[in-house]
Amino acid sequence: MNLLFLGPPGAGKGTQAKLIEERFGLRQLSSGDMLRDAVAKGSAVGKAAQDYMSRGALVPDEVVLGIVFEHIKHARMPKGFMLDGFPRTQAQAEALDALLPSIGRAIDKVLVFDVDDQLLIDRVEGRYTCTHCGEGYHHKFKPPRVAGTCDKCGHHDFKRRADDNAETMAHRLAVYHAETRPLIAYYQTQGKAVIIDGTAPIETVTGIIDDIFAADAA
Ligand code: AMP
Repeated sequence: MNLLFLGPPGAGKGTQAKLIEERFGLRQLSSGDMLRDAVAKGSAVGKAAQDYMSRGALVPDEVVLGIVFEHIKHARMPKGFMLDGFPRTQAQAEALDALLPSIGRAIDKVLVFDVDDQLLIDRVEGRYTCTHCGEGYHHKFKPPRVAGTCDKCGHHDFKRRADDNAETMAHRLAVYHAETRPLIAYYQTQGKAVIIDGTAPIETVTGIIDDIFAADAA
């Protein structure tokens, strides 16, 4: 099964993608992670993307399409994939629709994470990850079981994303509403959109996604 996750920053896309990856073996393809990796490596793509990312603006379509399509074409993903954070524009969605048949893939469902802006700001401002294994935490909603120690790997170093601050977040949300939200209608027209209440606790959202997998297997 191939899924696409659509939703604003902080809606829980990455959290759920990691859980699905563990349980069902679908591969998470996060355009944000690919771009952060390119920036960390100092590659040409990273250099082209860095300034846009630090402002919370969209990286130009041609840059994003290059790096994301490279992964879609070449990553090993026998159980399918989850696109997280891509597409974010109409042009990206159309380019994806043009690419997939040529590699024998199709999007089965588009999970739309619905969360209002104020909650997103609270979520993004409080989130951080383990530097060692990447497990995600939140000061209020998901602290580690033992303060300062990663539940998953036991390491003690954590980091926050540079763009998870109030000012950049306001811009990322505005961009989401202007450029990405209209894609919900695009996928509704294709009969693929499933709206999920992203304000629900992590386990509740996981349960809803489990039901989607169960229905698909039936
Ligand atoms: P994310 O981790 O999905 O929140 O993405 C972090 C940043 O990477 C965004 O604020 C954008 O600057 C950039 N980015 C990620 N995915 C895309 C995309 N599909 N199109 C354009 N820019 C993107």
